[in-house]
Amino acid sequence: MIQHLPATIPDELFAAFADSLAKAARELAAQGWTPATSSNFSMRINEEHAAITVSGRDKARLGRDDIMLIDMDGRAIGTDSRPSAETALHTQIYRRWPEAQVVLHTHSRTQSVASRLFAADGVVHLRGWELQKAIPGYTPHDSVLDIPVFPNTQQMAELVAHIDAWLDSDKPLHAYLIDGHGIYTWGSSMEETRRHLEALEFLLACELDLRVLRAS
Ligand SMILES: [Zn+2]
Repeated sequence: MIQHLPATIPDELFAAFADSLAKAARELAAQGWTPATSSNFSMRINEEHAAITVSGRDKARLGRDDIMLIDMDGRAIGTDSRPSAETALHTQIYRRWPEAQVVLHTHSRTQSVASRLFAADGVVHLRGWELQKAIPGYTPHDSVLDIPVFPNTQQMAELVAHIDAWLDSDKPLHAYLIDGHGIYTWGSSMEETRRHLEALEFLLACELDLRVLRAS
């Protein structure tokens, strides 16, 4: 892929971001969380730019050439590759949270099933789990970690509006599910964001297990 980078982003810098994203994608794919070329990943490079996965690539085989540059309006910069269809959700996060450096979106089976199960409530209330402490500001015993479930749509502007409405009501947000679709989470580094994603996957799986066991 030919990528013409702006002068403010040296080749080696972009390559380092691309390598880091591609490695994370391959590792998450190995866990089965990115079936059938789904899922997308991004990293903020500076105030105006982010690196993001090119649309439709197999995440298990992702390499440097599968990562492209966008601006914070989601436009491709210096390439005619197409960014992920959900790019607007990534740029929304970067614009809302200046400290957000990484956005990870996966479609694991657990995330997909949980999103359907809790869609009617519009939220998953996580409480009493030790692993809630993986999310900043949450302690296991005295806090409830709410993960909203937004309706799925192919119209990104609609989803962006749902998320803005949640945030405008001053509710905290560290991650969200999209009904029948998957999860989005973010953080101040790749390490932190991977920790969020792993903790949320585990917590959602525990909630699903409890439902099954209580019903039996
Ligand atoms: Zn998706």
